[in-house]
Amino acid sequence: MFMHNKRLQYTVRVAEPNPKLATMLLEQFGGADGELSAAMRYFTQGLSEEDPGRKDLLLDIATEELSHLEIIGSIVAMLNKGAKAQLTEQQKAETELYQMVGASGTSIKESILFGGGASLMDSAGVPWTAAYVDSRSEPTVDLRSNIAAEARAKIVYERLIGITDDPGIKEALGFLMTREIAHQKSFEKALYSIENNFPSGKLPGIEPYTDMYVNTSQGEGDMSGPWNSGEQWNVVNDLNEVLPADAGGDGTASVKLGAADGAAMQEMMLRLKSDPNSQPFTGADLGAGPGAGKVTDEDEGGATDIHTATSVGAKLAPAK
Ligand code: MN
Ligand code: MN
Repeated sequence: MFMHNKRLQYTVRVAEPNPKLATMLLEQFGGADGELSAAMRYFTQGLSEEDPGRKDLLLDIATEELSHLEIIGSIVAMLNKGAKAQLTEQQKAETELYQMVGASGTSIKESILFGGGASLMDSAGVPWTAAYVDSRSEPTVDLRSNIAAEARAKIVYERLIGITDDPGIKEALGFLMTREIAHQKSFEKALYSIENNFPSGKLPGIEPYTDMYVNTSQGEGDMSGPWNSGEQWNVVNDLNEVLPADAGGDGTASVKLGAADGAAMQEMMLRLKSDPNSQPFTGADLGAGPGAGKVTDEDEGGATDIHTATSVGAKLAPAK
């Protein structure tokens, strides 16, 4: 069960209202790398985790991310307090309120639809979606994704810290950013606590493809590094030499069809057969004018020849 503690995990001190900054901070409230995404990611992973250590870790971090959601949402609410009151009580003239919604930089959706409240959308007004959670129920896959998610959350906080000079907000965002660093470290430890964590899953890779580096982009700019050179890698520069990669194959695609499917396929191919020897006169030829390039012309005898488009167009143009 969840219990709620009325104190925030970190004190929120906002110097003054700033709806534009609130809109930017929504990125970490209802955005792809935001706190709700993080909380739901680890909560759902934790529910179906079998390993007691990882289950505990995931539910600990999921619950902390909900506490971060509370912090970032509280900052948004403080920054929007004035705008929310003005939109609600409408003590200013229409033109002033109109200016406030536009000039503050607050998204119009945030003001008009959500009334300045903390709403689960990103900084561009896109509603939060469960599609941000990419769990696959395999710890060596999900932990890697979690490590990347923490790295992304860290960098988004870093950018938000860089655009505000409010010391209280800077401090709270610094705390949130730092907690993502700690989470990344825990997830890395959890990943490497699984003895064989690479490759993911149960099936081994197939030799020799695991050590093959395919140099498919060739020419000036070709570079060597530890990612493609040295004893670990078998570099393939002559692509024709390894095409197809399966030594005994011919590189074609095939399937065995049953009698009924085969008959239908034959009929379809026959009906849609193209005649490579035809020289059809088409609508493009008929309407061709300057700039149409070479076109086919059909004379009175039914024979065809090729013209540049201007000669055909000239025929159709009214006499001057
Ligand atoms: Mn967080
Ligand atoms: Mn985190």
